[in-house]
Amino acid sequence: MTRYIAAYDTESPACLAACRKIVDAHRRHEMPATFFIVGRTLEANPREYIELLDDPLFEIASHTYSHRMLRDHPVCGPAASPEQREIEIRRGKDVVEDVFGRECVGLRPGCGFSNAMRGATEELRHIADAGYRYVSSFLWGPDYSLPARLETPFSYDSDGFPDLWELPGHGWHENVLKNTTPIDMRRLTLWPPELPAAIPDAYIETPEQEFALNRVFIDEALRERTPFVSLIWHPWSLDRFDPDMKMLDLTFAYVRDRGMAVCTYADLCGTVMGQGGGEGWSGKPDDM
Ligand SMILES: [Zn+2]
Repeated sequence: MTRYIAAYDTESPACLAACRKIVDAHRRHEMPATFFIVGRTLEANPREYIELLDDPLFEIASHTYSHRMLRDHPVCGPAASPEQREIEIRRGKDVVEDVFGRECVGLRPGCGFSNAMRGATEELRHIADAGYRYVSSFLWGPDYSLPARLETPFSYDSDGFPDLWELPGHGWHENVLKNTTPIDMRRLTLWPPELPAAIPDAYIETPEQEFALNRVFIDEALRERTPFVSLIWHPWSLDRFDPDMKMLDLTFAYVRDRGMAVCTYADLCGTVMGQGGGEGWSGKPDDM
């Protein structure tokens, strides 16, 4: 069974107003979500975020403390100092737990990477020591191309952390697709493309176009019977492009129409951990 996970990288002052609209859409569709929140963004408006997100439908996870890089990144810049990287990992979790009074089990590093956190032993140690159970850092295709592939969960066993899981994100970083974040790199897509229908001719201009691209990934995940599909969304960018959040209504209605199971990243993590660890997804389509 392919699960659908709605998830948001919540990371700037404009995300608060956007989250009000996003939460309304989730309540209308009874759709769970994971909000990865930057510690500083949460510290700026703790009461408002509690009012919005303290709901059993939602998982609150960390998007680091201040969005500084945990590894060198060809688009987003060099890694922060080792001391700062530890702060990003640990304080990000503490802020979520202090504000919401619930355990924060997931970390999505700023920007994500094309090799996940593989080989970043010091950072993986901080992540495991801090008590995270999963990282969602695999957010790019090969050689920092986009869109990110429909990768499946794996444990960091080969790095020495068998109980820590990678739960990737998929598709475009939607802000890139709309040019709400112009990026300084022209070689963005793979050639030949793996999913030609997922690569538009130009920046998209309407919520319907965004939904049509979302559908390419959802349909492919269903066709391949992958364990889950989760697109990479940013509240501030969704709101700037589509203030009525029409894309969310179209996408959630489609997910329901296809009869998909829906959950949060924490729910998915519980399921993969229940499998007993190991290097990769077992590949059996009925695991979930
Ligand atoms: Zn981010």
